[in-house]
Formats: sequence, structure tokens, C-alpha cells
Amino acid sequence: MKSHRKELWFEVPTRRAFINITPKVTDALTESGIKEGLCLVNAMHITASVFINDDESGLHHDYEEWLEGLAPHEPTSKYRHNRTGEDNADAHIKRQVMGREVVVAVTEGRLDFGPWEQIFYGEFDGRRRKRVLVKIIGE
Ligand code: ZN
Repeated sequence: MKSHRKELWFEVPTRRAFINITPKVTDALTESGIKEGLCLVNAMHITASVFINDDESGLHHDYEEWLEGLAPHEPTSKYRHNRTGEDNADAHIKRQVMGREVVVAVTEGRLDFGPWEQIFYGEFDGRRRKRVLVKIIGE
């Protein structure tokens, strides 16, 4: 069995953003040379997510509004976590809802997606360097 590990780095200039990372994951798969196996992609930070859905700007706007309704950033004083001096309790909650990781099957050297599936990095507390791990195993 072969394995391949790669870190993807991000520094999002805004507090929140959704980024399509499918091309970067596809590059990692190509580098791996693996034709049949599994590809794990996970956020390495507890205020960011990796998830799969459609690359459609209206949907991303809907996510933003829905998440802000569930866990509004302000007022920051309403969250106990922020008593630590941080202001990112909402980002921890948004990350929990949107998920930590995805696993995609690798078939004939390609990410074996369903129709319209794309991989996204969800940033909820940006403006600093953060990582995503890509781990691919197979042969
Ligand atoms: Zn925090």
C-alpha cells in the first residue's frame, strides 16, 4: 500500500470564507500516483471546516446566513468561551456544524465524486495561517 501526505495552507483575509479546494486535492492525488484507494481531507484547526457540496454562490450565501443565525458572531459577550479573552466561540460552533473532514473514494486515479460534488474549506476565524491535511492511501 502507498500513502501520500500533504498540507494545504490558507491565510484568508476575512473572518469567514468558503474556498473550493478541489483542484488542490486533485493535485495531491496526482502527486501520489495512487489509482485505487481513499482520500481523507481534514481541517487541522477547530475553527475551520472541510465539507462537500455544490460550488454555487447562492448556496454559499445561504450557508453564511444560516450559520450566522445559529451562532451569530456578535454579541461576543454572550458566549462563555469568549471569557477566555478570545472572540471566536461562534467559529467553533460553525465548524462543528459544517464538519471536520471528508473522505472521497479514489477510482482509476480520480476523485470519485457524485454529480456536482466539490470539496470546500470553510473558514470561520480567518486572518491567520491555517492548514488542511490531505492523506491518501491505496495503490
Ligand atoms: Zn476559541
